[in-house]
Amino acid sequence: MGEIIDGKRIAAEIKEEIRKSQLKPKLVAVQVGENPASRVYVNNQKKAAEELGLGYELVEMDASTSAPELKARIEKLNTDTSVNGIILQMPLPAGLDAKDFQAIINPVKDVEGLNPANLGKIVLGEIGLVPCTAMAVWEIIKREKIDIKGKEAVIVGHSSIVGKPVSMLLLSSLNGSATTTCCHIATKDLAFHTRRADILIVAAGKAGLIKGDMIKEGAVVIDVGINRIPVLDEKGEPVLNDNGQPKKKTVGDVEYEKALERAGRITPVPGGVGPVTTALLFKNLIYACSLQK
Ligand code: NAD
Repeated sequence: MGEIIDGKRIAAEIKEEIRKSQLKPKLVAVQVGENPASRVYVNNQKKAAEELGLGYELVEMDASTSAPELKARIEKLNTDTSVNGIILQMPLPAGLDAKDFQAIINPVKDVEGLNPANLGKIVLGEIGLVPCTAMAVWEIIKREKIDIKGKEAVIVGHSSIVGKPVSMLLLSSLNGSATTTCCHIATKDLAFHTRRADILIVAAGKAGLIKGDMIKEGAVVIDVGINRIPVLDEKGEPVLNDNGQPKKKTVGDVEYEKALERAGRITPVPGGVGPVTTALLFKNLIYACSLQK
């Protein structure tokens, strides 16, 4: 039976470090247009900032905002010395390409680590402002004292915000380099790779992608995936909520119960990578502020 890695405990440790910091920076979130999911994120960010004693401001822009208008707003925040971190809420309205705007956020205020200058540093083996989810994987490895040196690390997913930066972090010699394989949708035999992983990191966004028998005995499994799936009763029928809608639950990409039997250590979903990611947005904010001093 594997040991469960408690993401909430790690997040609490990080938050305690943030509270102890002398720096009390301010984060500004830019939201263009209305989006229910984005609204939830913004409310959570505001609440978390307040709990940590940090500043938070939401800049709301109309859905009809043009690219030059958004660019001008970001440039104003870039030079505003009362602003220490900038986060651009996703999704942007159709016609606005997120990459164009992430690239103009001042790299020392880029708390999401998505500016090419910050992503590039990871390739050079520097830990600066790293995308929060990739940093969460790294922090879990570090704080849980997981030895990666020379180990077989397999990452499933090659997105710019998770899979690729995680692959680079595990290759870096900062924590002793792992031998790293990055799998993705075009990988021919996924199980072949995952079965030889001493450290398996999954960030695909596919519930049940990693079955128990795809995990090496004793492996460390870090499940980044967040999926909402219907709750089924014993007959396999969807359970309905009070509104008559199918009840849903949050799961990762790994078949958790079966994986728990084989893995040495494993992160649950929810309660694993998620809370650590949220805390690291503010750790990045503190770090960004220190860069500006
Ligand atoms: P993405 O859609 O940008 O990338 C998905 C990756 O998975 C791609 O590289 C794709 O090639 C790969 N993939 C998809 N299906 C596959 C398959 N069948 N076999 C092998 N590879 C496959 O997603 P993302 O933004 O990197 O996010 C991945 C997951 O992590 C999502 O579930 C997302 O919700 C979750 N996420 C969690 C946090 C957190 O805080 N825990 C933060 C960000 C993202």
